[in-house]
Amino acid sequence: MGLFKKKGWIGVDLDKTLVKYTKWNNGNIGEPIPLMMDRVQAWLDQGIEVRIFTARCGNCYPDQVKKNCSAIQAFCLKHFHRLLPITNEKDQDMIALYDDRAVQMIPNTGQTLDQHLGIIRDYLTTTAKSLRTMGDYSFADSMDSFIKTYIDRK
Ligand SMILES: [Mg+2]
Repeated sequence: MGLFKKKGWIGVDLDKTLVKYTKWNNGNIGEPIPLMMDRVQAWLDQGIEVRIFTARCGNCYPDQVKKNCSAIQAFCLKHFHRLLPITNEKDQDMIALYDDRAVQMIPNTGQTLDQHLGIIRDYLTTTAKSLRTMGDYSFADSMDSFIKTYIDRK
């Protein structure tokens, strides 16, 4: 089942998260972003509900909602071979939200995750060096990989 519990749903933003976006382009949906598409497909394969989380079908575009939702549904059918729910609302069953505008918060602190990344990076780097001196290269390599994948790319 992986990282997520089966109950609940994952919100996935459309523009700049699931598909490329540079301009409105008459509402046409951009090219899929392979890494995110694969991530969503893996969740669907695990039976996890994924909802497209987008303002395109919200109240800010009342005259375009029908057209925008149809385009998103066609996109989902083409790429995931199924319709996915479309929403712009959170509820208590939302497990996670993937969105290019979101900022990850440390729960109950008011602090952002970014504020801590430098500290975490230094700690992991020091720990990896210590592990190598003790001959544990495998875990040290995993730490270096984590730093490259999750910290340095930001
Ligand atoms: Mg976006």
